[in-house]
Amino acid sequence: MIVVRFAPSPTGYMHIGNLRTALLNYMFAQKKKNEGEDVSFVLRIDDTDRERSKPEYEAAVYDCLKWMGMKWDRLEHQSARLARYDEIVERLKAEGRLYACYETAEELEYKRRRRLARKLPPVYDREGLRLTAEDRAKLEAEGRRPHYRFKLDYEEMAWDDMVRGHCSYHGEYLSDPIVVREDGTLPYLLPSVIDDIDFGITHVIRGEDHVTNTAVQIQMFKALGGKIPVFGHPPLLTGKEGKLSKRTGSVNFMELRDEGIEPMTVACLLSSIGTSDATPVEKTLEALADHFDLSKFGRAQPRFDTQDLFKLNPRIVRDLSLETVNDRLAQKGMPAVDARLWEAVAPNLTKLDDLTGWIDRCSAGKVFSVPDEDRAFARTAAALLPDGAFDENTFALWTAALKEKTGRKGRDLFHPLRMALTGLEQGPELKALLPVLGREETVSRLQG
Ligand code: GLU
Repeated sequence: MIVVRFAPSPTGYMHIGNLRTALLNYMFAQKKKNEGEDVSFVLRIDDTDRERSKPEYEAAVYDCLKWMGMKWDRLEHQSARLARYDEIVERLKAEGRLYACYETAEELEYKRRRRLARKLPPVYDREGLRLTAEDRAKLEAEGRRPHYRFKLDYEEMAWDDMVRGHCSYHGEYLSDPIVVREDGTLPYLLPSVIDDIDFGITHVIRGEDHVTNTAVQIQMFKALGGKIPVFGHPPLLTGKEGKLSKRTGSVNFMELRDEGIEPMTVACLLSSIGTSDATPVEKTLEALADHFDLSKFGRAQPRFDTQDLFKLNPRIVRDLSLETVNDRLAQKGMPAVDARLWEAVAPNLTKLDDLTGWIDRCSAGKVFSVPDEDRAFARTAAALLPDGAFDENTFALWTAALKEKTGRKGRDLFHPLRMALTGLEQGPELKALLPVLGREETVSRLQG
Protein backbone atom coordinates (compact mmCIF):
# COMPACT_ATOMS: atom_id res chain seq x y z
CA MET A 1 0.00 0.00 0.00
CA ILE A 2 1.31 3.44 -0.99
CA VAL A 3 0.22 6.19 1.40
CA VAL A 4 1.00 9.85 0.71
CA ARG A 5 -0.14 12.94 2.49
CA PHE A 6 -0.65 16.62 1.86
CA ALA A 7 -0.21 18.54 5.11
CA PRO A 8 -1.11 22.21 4.74
CA SER A 9 -1.01 24.62 7.67
CA PRO A 10 -4.21 26.68 7.41
CA THR A 11 -2.45 29.93 8.28
CA GLY A 12 -3.08 31.67 4.97
CA TYR A 13 -4.76 31.07 1.63
CA MET A 14 -3.19 28.28 -0.35
CA HIS A 15 -0.86 29.62 -3.00
CA ILE A 16 0.30 28.01 -6.17
CA GLY A 17 3.35 26.46 -4.45
CA ASN A 18 1.14 24.67 -1.89
CA LEU A 19 -1.19 23.59 -4.64
CA ARG A 20 1.78 22.13 -6.49
CA THR A 21 2.87 20.13 -3.43
CA ALA A 22 -0.64 18.69 -3.15
CA LEU A 23 -0.67 17.88 -6.84
CA LEU A 24 2.76 16.22 -6.87
CA ASN A 25 1.66 13.93 -4.04
CA TYR A 26 -1.59 13.21 -5.82
CA MET A 27 0.15 12.53 -9.15
CA PHE A 28 2.64 10.23 -7.46
CA ALA A 29 -0.17 8.20 -5.87
CA GLN A 30 -2.30 8.23 -9.01
CA LYS A 31 0.58 6.95 -11.11
CA LYS A 32 1.02 4.03 -8.70
CA LYS A 33 -2.71 3.43 -8.86
CA ASN A 34 -2.59 3.40 -12.66
CA GLU A 35 0.10 0.75 -12.28
CA GLY A 36 -2.27 -1.36 -10.23
CA GLU A 37 -1.11 -0.58 -6.69
CA ASP A 38 -3.31 0.22 -3.71
CA VAL A 39 -2.92 3.85 -2.76
CA SER A 40 -4.28 6.27 -0.23
CA PHE A 41 -4.09 10.08 -0.16
CA VAL A 42 -4.24 11.56 3.32
CA LEU A 43 -5.17 15.19 3.84
CA ARG A 44 -3.68 16.33 7.13
CA ILE A 45 -4.55 19.76 8.42
CA ASP A 46 -1.57 21.06 10.44
CA ASP A 47 -3.61 23.31 12.68
CA THR A 48 -1.70 23.25 15.95
CA ASP A 49 -1.04 26.99 15.73
CA ARG A 50 -4.41 28.03 17.12
CA GLU A 51 -3.78 31.73 16.70
CA ARG A 52 -2.77 31.75 13.07
CA SER A 53 -5.01 28.91 11.85
CA LYS A 54 -8.32 30.19 10.47
CA PRO A 55 -11.40 28.28 9.33
CA GLU A 56 -11.56 30.27 6.09
CA TYR A 57 -8.04 29.14 5.16
CA GLU A 58 -8.94 25.55 5.93
CA ALA A 59 -12.13 25.84 3.85
CA ALA A 60 -10.01 27.17 0.98
CA VAL A 61 -7.86 24.02 1.13
CA TYR A 62 -10.93 21.83 0.63
CA ASP A 63 -12.33 24.08 -2.10
CA CYS A 64 -9.04 24.10 -3.92
CA LEU A 65 -8.53 20.33 -3.85
CA LYS A 66 -12.13 19.78 -4.92
CA TRP A 67 -11.82 22.30 -7.72
CA MET A 68 -8.72 20.48 -8.95
CA GLY A 69 -10.53 17.13 -8.74
CA MET A 70 -8.22 15.75 -6.06
CA LYS A 71 -10.05 13.42 -3.70
CA TRP A 72 -8.67 12.47 -0.32
CA ASP A 73 -9.19 9.08 1.29
CA ARG A 74 -8.61 10.22 4.84
CA LEU A 75 -8.85 13.56 6.63
CA GLU A 76 -6.99 14.30 9.86
CA HIS A 77 -6.54 17.35 12.04
CA GLN A 78 -3.45 17.75 14.18
CA SER A 79 -5.48 19.79 16.67
CA ALA A 80 -7.46 16.62 17.47
CA ARG A 81 -4.33 14.63 18.26
CA LEU A 82 -2.70 16.67 21.01
CA ALA A 83 -3.20 13.93 23.63
CA ARG A 84 -1.37 11.48 21.38
CA TYR A 85 1.54 13.92 20.95
CA ASP A 86 1.73 14.47 24.72
CA GLU A 87 1.91 10.74 25.29
CA ILE A 88 4.92 10.50 22.96
CA VAL A 89 6.55 13.57 24.46
CA GLU A 90 6.31 12.01 27.95
CA ARG A 91 7.76 8.77 26.64
CA LEU A 92 10.71 10.54 25.00
CA LYS A 93 11.31 12.58 28.15
CA ALA A 94 11.34 9.42 30.24
CA GLU A 95 13.84 7.87 27.83
CA GLY A 96 16.09 10.93 28.15
CA ARG A 97 15.68 11.74 24.47
CA LEU A 98 14.10 15.11 25.27
CA TYR A 99 15.88 17.44 27.63
CA ALA A 100 14.85 20.64 29.31
CA CYS A 101 16.50 23.96 28.38
CA TYR A 102 15.93 27.35 29.90
CA GLU A 103 17.60 29.92 27.66
CA THR A 104 15.56 32.85 26.45
CA ALA A 105 15.49 33.73 22.76
CA GLU A 106 17.93 36.59 23.44
CA GLU A 107 20.35 34.33 25.26
CA LEU A 108 20.27 31.84 22.41
CA GLU A 109 20.89 34.59 19.90
CA TYR A 110 23.86 35.81 21.93
CA LYS A 111 25.35 32.30 22.06
CA ARG A 112 24.83 31.92 18.36
CA ARG A 113 26.69 35.13 17.56
CA ARG A 114 29.53 34.22 19.89
CA ARG A 115 30.03 30.90 18.15
CA LEU A 116 29.97 32.52 14.74
CA ALA A 117 32.56 35.05 15.88
CA ARG A 118 34.76 32.12 16.93
CA LYS A 119 34.21 30.56 13.52
CA LEU A 120 32.28 27.65 15.03
CA PRO A 121 29.09 26.26 13.47
CA PRO A 122 26.16 28.07 15.13
CA VAL A 123 24.69 24.95 16.69
CA TYR A 124 23.18 24.75 20.16
CA ASP A 125 25.85 23.97 22.79
CA ARG A 126 23.68 21.53 24.78
CA GLU A 127 23.92 23.52 27.97
CA GLY A 128 20.51 22.12 28.98
CA LEU A 129 21.91 18.62 28.88
CA ARG A 130 24.49 19.48 31.51
CA LEU A 131 22.03 20.93 34.03
CA THR A 132 21.62 19.02 37.27
CA ALA A 133 18.26 18.60 38.99
CA GLU A 134 19.43 21.28 41.36
CA ASP A 135 20.27 23.72 38.54
CA ARG A 136 16.85 23.17 37.04
CA ALA A 137 15.08 23.72 40.32
CA LYS A 138 17.00 26.97 40.75
CA LEU A 139 16.14 28.20 37.26
CA GLU A 140 12.47 27.36 37.78
CA ALA A 141 12.50 29.14 41.12
CA GLU A 142 13.66 32.24 39.16
CA GLY A 143 10.41 31.92 37.23
CA ARG A 144 11.87 30.32 34.12
CA ARG A 145 9.89 27.64 32.32
CA PRO A 146 11.59 24.91 30.33
CA HIS A 147 11.40 24.21 26.63
CA TYR A 148 12.51 20.78 25.42
CA ARG A 149 14.98 19.74 22.79
CA PHE A 150 15.32 16.45 20.99
CA LYS A 151 18.81 15.05 21.50
CA LEU A 152 20.29 14.16 18.14
CA ASP A 153 22.60 11.20 17.93
CA TYR A 154 25.95 12.16 16.51
CA GLU A 155 25.59 9.94 13.51
CA GLU A 156 24.95 10.19 9.80
CA MET A 157 21.37 10.70 8.62
CA ALA A 158 21.22 9.62 4.99
CA TRP A 159 18.45 8.89 2.54
CA ASP A 160 17.92 8.42 -1.18
CA ASP A 161 15.76 11.30 -2.19
CA MET A 162 13.37 10.73 -5.09
CA VAL A 163 14.39 14.13 -6.48
CA ARG A 164 17.78 14.99 -5.04
CA GLY A 165 19.42 11.56 -5.06
CA HIS A 166 21.64 10.58 -2.14
CA CYS A 167 21.44 13.06 0.75
CA SER A 168 23.48 12.96 3.89
CA TYR A 169 23.72 15.07 7.05
CA HIS A 170 25.54 14.55 10.32
CA GLY A 171 23.95 15.02 13.73
CA GLU A 172 27.01 16.81 15.04
CA TYR A 173 26.50 19.76 12.70
CA LEU A 174 22.84 20.34 13.48
CA SER A 175 21.26 21.90 16.56
CA ASP A 176 19.10 19.69 18.71
CA PRO A 177 15.65 20.86 17.58
CA ILE A 178 13.16 22.39 20.02
CA VAL A 179 10.17 20.06 20.15
CA VAL A 180 8.20 21.52 23.06
CA ARG A 181 7.98 25.29 23.48
CA GLU A 182 7.97 27.11 26.80
CA ASP A 183 4.18 27.41 26.66
CA GLY A 184 3.84 23.64 26.12
CA THR A 185 2.89 23.88 22.43
CA LEU A 186 4.67 21.72 19.87
CA PRO A 187 6.37 23.00 16.75
CA TYR A 188 5.69 21.08 13.56
CA LEU A 189 8.62 18.62 13.51
CA LEU A 190 7.69 15.95 16.03
CA PRO A 191 3.88 15.83 15.55
CA SER A 192 4.48 15.38 11.84
CA VAL A 193 6.63 12.31 12.47
CA ILE A 194 4.11 10.88 14.95
CA ASP A 195 1.37 11.32 12.34
CA ASP A 196 3.43 9.89 9.51
CA ILE A 197 4.02 6.78 11.61
CA ASP A 198 0.44 6.48 12.89
CA PHE A 199 -1.07 6.97 9.43
CA GLY A 200 1.38 4.61 7.75
CA ILE A 201 2.77 7.23 5.36
CA THR A 202 5.10 5.54 2.89
CA HIS A 203 6.19 8.52 0.75
CA VAL A 204 6.68 12.15 1.75
CA ILE A 205 6.85 14.66 -1.08
CA ARG A 206 7.37 18.24 0.03
CA GLY A 207 9.37 21.34 -0.89
CA GLU A 208 13.14 21.45 -0.60
CA ASP A 209 12.81 23.92 2.30
CA HIS A 210 12.19 20.78 4.39
CA VAL A 211 15.43 18.99 3.55
CA THR A 212 17.16 19.62 6.89
CA ASN A 213 13.91 18.84 8.70
CA THR A 214 14.03 15.47 7.00
CA ALA A 215 17.50 14.78 8.39
CA VAL A 216 16.31 15.54 11.92
CA GLN A 217 13.01 13.73 11.45
CA ILE A 218 14.81 10.57 10.35
CA GLN A 219 16.24 10.37 13.87
CA MET A 220 12.77 10.91 15.29
CA PHE A 221 11.36 8.07 13.20
CA LYS A 222 14.11 5.87 14.58
CA ALA A 223 13.56 7.02 18.17
CA LEU A 224 9.87 6.14 17.86
CA GLY A 225 10.53 2.83 16.15
CA GLY A 226 8.59 3.90 13.05
CA LYS A 227 9.24 2.99 9.46
CA ILE A 228 11.09 5.81 7.68
CA PRO A 229 9.16 6.90 4.60
CA VAL A 230 10.75 7.52 1.21
CA PHE A 231 11.34 11.24 0.72
CA GLY A 232 11.24 13.51 -2.30
CA HIS A 233 12.03 17.23 -2.15
CA PRO A 234 11.39 19.09 -5.39
CA PRO A 235 12.85 22.60 -5.66
CA LEU A 236 10.46 25.40 -4.76
CA LEU A 237 8.78 27.49 -7.42
CA THR A 238 9.80 31.08 -7.67
CA GLY A 239 7.50 33.84 -8.84
CA LYS A 240 8.04 37.30 -10.23
CA GLU A 241 8.52 38.67 -6.74
CA GLY A 242 10.90 35.86 -5.78
CA LYS A 243 9.91 33.23 -3.25
CA LEU A 244 6.21 32.35 -3.15
CA SER A 245 4.52 32.57 0.21
CA LYS A 246 1.04 32.67 1.67
CA ARG A 247 1.74 35.96 3.34
CA THR A 248 2.88 37.85 0.28
CA GLY A 249 -0.43 36.88 -1.31
CA SER A 250 1.10 35.06 -4.28
CA VAL A 251 -1.40 33.86 -6.85
CA ASN A 252 -4.04 31.74 -5.23
CA PHE A 253 -6.35 29.32 -6.92
CA MET A 254 -9.45 31.47 -6.45
CA GLU A 255 -8.00 34.21 -8.61
CA LEU A 256 -7.09 31.70 -11.28
CA ARG A 257 -10.53 30.09 -11.18
CA ASP A 258 -12.21 33.47 -11.41
CA GLU A 259 -10.11 34.39 -14.42
CA GLY A 260 -11.32 31.31 -16.28
CA ILE A 261 -8.24 29.12 -15.86
CA GLU A 262 -9.25 25.46 -15.99
CA PRO A 263 -8.17 23.11 -13.20
CA MET A 264 -6.55 20.84 -15.78
CA THR A 265 -4.55 23.81 -17.08
CA VAL A 266 -3.11 24.23 -13.60
CA ALA A 267 -2.56 20.49 -13.22
CA CYS A 268 -0.80 20.05 -16.57
CA LEU A 269 1.53 22.97 -15.95
CA LEU A 270 2.27 22.35 -12.29
CA SER A 271 2.88 18.63 -12.64
CA SER A 272 5.59 19.20 -15.23
CA ILE A 273 7.14 22.57 -14.36
CA GLY A 274 10.71 21.91 -13.26
CA THR A 275 11.13 18.90 -15.57
CA SER A 276 12.55 19.08 -19.07
CA ASP A 277 9.36 17.54 -20.51
CA ALA A 278 7.10 19.57 -22.75
CA THR A 279 3.92 20.45 -20.85
CA PRO A 280 1.57 17.49 -21.25
CA VAL A 281 -1.98 18.21 -22.33
CA GLU A 282 -4.45 15.78 -20.81
CA LYS A 283 -8.12 15.79 -19.92
CA THR A 284 -7.96 14.02 -16.58
CA LEU A 285 -5.64 13.73 -13.60
CA GLU A 286 -5.60 9.97 -14.17
CA ALA A 287 -4.23 10.37 -17.68
CA LEU A 288 -1.84 13.12 -16.61
CA ALA A 289 -0.36 10.87 -13.92
CA ASP A 290 1.03 8.55 -16.59
CA HIS A 291 3.54 11.27 -17.51
CA PHE A 292 4.58 11.80 -13.91
CA ASP A 293 7.96 10.80 -12.59
CA LEU A 294 9.74 12.56 -9.72
CA SER A 295 13.14 11.61 -11.08
CA LYS A 296 12.47 13.91 -14.06
CA PHE A 297 12.56 16.93 -11.75
CA GLY A 298 15.72 19.04 -11.94
CA ARG A 299 17.54 20.74 -9.09
CA ALA A 300 17.04 24.34 -10.28
CA GLN A 301 14.15 26.37 -8.91
CA PRO A 302 11.58 26.67 -11.69
CA ARG A 303 10.05 30.06 -12.37
CA PHE A 304 6.31 30.14 -12.32
CA ASP A 305 4.66 32.73 -14.52
CA THR A 306 0.87 33.05 -14.49
CA GLN A 307 1.04 33.98 -18.17
CA ASP A 308 2.01 30.38 -18.92
CA LEU A 309 -1.37 29.31 -17.55
CA PHE A 310 -3.13 31.78 -19.82
CA LYS A 311 -1.15 30.48 -22.79
CA LEU A 312 -2.02 26.86 -22.06
CA ASN A 313 -5.67 27.42 -21.16
CA PRO A 314 -7.10 27.61 -24.73
CA ARG A 315 -5.67 24.18 -25.52
CA ILE A 316 -7.28 22.71 -22.43
CA VAL A 317 -10.61 24.46 -23.04
CA ARG A 318 -10.70 23.21 -26.64
CA ASP A 319 -10.38 19.63 -25.39
CA LEU A 320 -13.18 19.81 -22.82
CA SER A 321 -15.82 17.15 -23.40
CA LEU A 322 -19.34 18.21 -24.31
CA GLU A 323 -20.49 16.61 -21.08
CA THR A 324 -18.16 18.77 -18.99
CA VAL A 325 -19.17 21.86 -20.91
CA ASN A 326 -22.86 21.20 -20.36
CA ASP A 327 -22.31 20.45 -16.67
CA ARG A 328 -20.62 23.80 -16.30
CA LEU A 329 -23.39 25.59 -18.21
CA ALA A 330 -25.96 23.87 -15.99
CA GLN A 331 -24.13 25.14 -12.89
CA LYS A 332 -24.70 28.62 -14.23
CA GLY A 333 -28.37 27.82 -14.92
CA MET A 334 -27.83 27.84 -18.67
CA PRO A 335 -29.28 25.41 -21.21
CA ALA A 336 -27.07 22.77 -22.79
CA VAL A 337 -25.37 23.26 -26.15
CA ASP A 338 -25.17 20.65 -28.89
CA ALA A 339 -21.99 19.05 -30.18
CA ARG A 340 -22.05 21.05 -33.41
CA LEU A 341 -22.01 24.40 -31.68
CA TRP A 342 -19.37 23.31 -29.19
CA GLU A 343 -17.10 21.91 -31.88
CA ALA A 344 -17.48 25.01 -34.04
CA VAL A 345 -16.68 27.44 -31.25
CA ALA A 346 -14.25 25.54 -28.99
CA PRO A 347 -11.07 26.23 -31.01
CA ASN A 348 -11.66 29.96 -30.56
CA LEU A 349 -12.11 30.20 -26.81
CA THR A 350 -9.46 31.40 -24.41
CA LYS A 351 -11.70 30.52 -21.49
CA LEU A 352 -14.93 28.59 -21.19
CA ASP A 353 -16.87 31.66 -20.09
CA ASP A 354 -16.45 33.08 -23.59
CA LEU A 355 -18.77 30.35 -24.82
CA THR A 356 -21.84 32.21 -23.57
CA GLY A 357 -21.07 35.10 -25.94
CA TRP A 358 -21.03 32.67 -28.85
CA ILE A 359 -24.21 30.93 -27.74
CA ASP A 360 -25.89 34.30 -27.84
CA ARG A 361 -24.30 35.24 -31.16
CA CYS A 362 -25.51 32.02 -32.76
CA SER A 363 -29.07 32.30 -31.45
CA ALA A 364 -31.89 32.91 -33.91
CA GLY A 365 -33.06 36.37 -34.91
CA LYS A 366 -29.77 38.25 -34.81
CA VAL A 367 -28.92 40.83 -37.46
CA PHE A 368 -25.47 42.35 -37.85
CA SER A 369 -24.80 45.42 -39.92
CA VAL A 370 -22.94 45.02 -43.19
CA PRO A 371 -21.12 48.01 -44.78
CA ASP A 372 -23.13 49.65 -47.60
CA GLU A 373 -20.69 48.55 -50.28
CA ASP A 374 -21.19 44.89 -49.32
CA ARG A 375 -24.99 44.82 -49.05
CA ALA A 376 -25.67 43.72 -52.62
CA PHE A 377 -22.94 41.12 -52.32
CA ALA A 378 -24.49 39.73 -49.17
CA ARG A 379 -27.88 39.45 -50.87
CA THR A 380 -26.32 37.68 -53.85
CA ALA A 381 -24.64 35.35 -51.38
CA ALA A 382 -28.01 34.54 -49.79
CA ALA A 383 -29.44 33.66 -53.18
CA LEU A 384 -26.49 31.42 -54.02
CA LEU A 385 -26.66 29.16 -50.98
CA PRO A 386 -26.54 25.63 -52.40
CA ASP A 387 -29.61 23.44 -52.20
CA GLY A 388 -29.56 20.14 -50.37
CA ALA A 389 -27.91 19.30 -47.08
CA PHE A 390 -26.71 22.23 -44.96
CA ASP A 391 -23.54 20.83 -43.47
CA GLU A 392 -19.79 21.23 -43.24
CA ASN A 393 -19.49 20.88 -47.04
CA THR A 394 -21.89 23.71 -47.72
CA PHE A 395 -19.39 26.50 -47.20
CA ALA A 396 -16.92 25.30 -49.87
CA LEU A 397 -19.66 24.78 -52.47
CA TRP A 398 -21.22 28.10 -51.63
CA THR A 399 -18.05 30.21 -51.75
CA ALA A 400 -16.95 28.55 -55.00
CA ALA A 401 -20.24 29.55 -56.61
CA LEU A 402 -19.98 33.05 -55.16
CA LYS A 403 -16.46 33.48 -56.43
CA GLU A 404 -17.50 32.49 -59.89
CA LYS A 405 -20.52 34.74 -59.92
CA THR A 406 -18.96 37.88 -58.38
CA GLY A 407 -15.26 37.53 -59.23
CA ARG A 408 -14.43 38.26 -55.55
CA LYS A 409 -11.80 36.25 -53.78
CA GLY A 410 -9.75 36.18 -50.58
CA ARG A 411 -10.66 38.75 -47.95
CA ASP A 412 -13.13 40.54 -50.30
CA LEU A 413 -15.08 37.35 -50.50
CA PHE A 414 -14.88 36.07 -46.91
CA HIS A 415 -14.85 39.20 -44.79
CA PRO A 416 -18.35 40.48 -45.69
CA LEU A 417 -19.75 36.99 -45.08
CA ARG A 418 -18.13 36.81 -41.66
CA MET A 419 -19.38 40.28 -40.74
CA ALA A 420 -22.93 39.52 -41.86
CA LEU A 421 -23.02 36.15 -40.09
CA THR A 422 -21.19 36.92 -36.86
CA GLY A 423 -20.79 40.68 -36.59
CA LEU A 424 -17.11 40.17 -35.72
CA GLU A 425 -13.83 40.47 -37.59
CA GLN A 426 -12.60 37.16 -36.28
CA GLY A 427 -14.04 33.98 -34.85
CA PRO A 428 -14.71 30.32 -35.47
CA GLU A 429 -14.45 28.86 -38.94
CA LEU A 430 -17.48 29.80 -41.02
CA LYS A 431 -17.47 26.30 -42.46
CA ALA A 432 -18.35 24.99 -38.99
CA LEU A 433 -20.64 27.86 -38.07
CA LEU A 434 -22.98 27.58 -41.07
CA PRO A 435 -24.60 24.31 -39.97
CA VAL A 436 -24.91 25.72 -36.45
CA LEU A 437 -26.83 28.74 -37.73
CA GLY A 438 -28.92 26.72 -40.18
CA ARG A 439 -30.16 27.78 -43.58
CA GLU A 440 -32.98 30.07 -42.48
CA GLU A 441 -30.89 32.06 -40.02
CA THR A 442 -28.02 32.31 -42.52
CA VAL A 443 -30.33 33.72 -45.17
CA SER A 444 -31.92 36.18 -42.80
CA ARG A 445 -28.53 37.47 -41.61
CA LEU A 446 -27.30 37.91 -45.19
CA GLN A 447 -30.43 39.77 -46.19
CA GLY A 448 -29.94 42.14 -43.25
N1 GLU B 1 2.51 21.86 7.52
C1 GLU B 1 3.82 21.72 6.94
C2 GLU B 1 4.02 22.79 5.89
O1 GLU B 1 3.04 23.29 5.37
C3 GLU B 1 3.95 20.35 6.35
C4 GLU B 1 5.28 19.99 5.86
C5 GLU B 1 5.36 18.52 5.50
O2 GLU B 1 4.84 18.18 4.43
O3 GLU B 1 5.89 17.75 6.26
O4 GLU B 1 5.14 23.16 5.60
